[in-house]
Amino acid sequence: MALREIVIAPNPVLKRPADPVRSVDSDVRTLLDDMLETMYAAPGIGLAAPQIAISQRLVVIDAAGKDEEPDPMRMVNPELVWKSDEMQKLEEGCLSLPEQWGDVVRHSAIKVAWLDENGIRREREATGLLSACIQHEIDHLDGILFVDHMSALKRNMILRKLAKWKKSKAKEDA
Ligand code: ZN
Repeated sequence: MALREIVIAPNPVLKRPADPVRSVDSDVRTLLDDMLETMYAAPGIGLAAPQIAISQRLVVIDAAGKDEEPDPMRMVNPELVWKSDEMQKLEEGCLSLPEQWGDVVRHSAIKVAWLDENGIRREREATGLLSACIQHEIDHLDGILFVDHMSALKRNMILRKLAKWKKSKAKEDA
């Protein structure tokens, strides 16, 4: 397993719809393991392949709480097969927009279907944080960031703050 570099916005790979994965082979399994390792190291609760500059429909998630058993999910070609009419608002962040947070309104409950690392079709219902996380990660596969759900005013404010953060980080690292 290996850590991968996380792409920071703005970057064209984050805006591009990702390609479906044609077959779940050992390369895909290695990639999913690398993504999980990268996500845990960050630390984060979800990571989509475009965030490591790979434009393929792959997502990893572990939204288990600190005191809960780990719940790693390796998802190939995930899609929402049902979403509730009821909505919820939760504060979100993103490993591609470090140090930035904002409220996002999403479906409060969803059902997601995907192929696991062995190519077997899985389904799972989710509510609360896990539901928001799954919707956030599938958005990444469609080139959508959480700030795209906000007003232009709020989005631009966050992107300006992020640009500043990037600059000061570059200075720190120099
Ligand atoms: Zn994200």
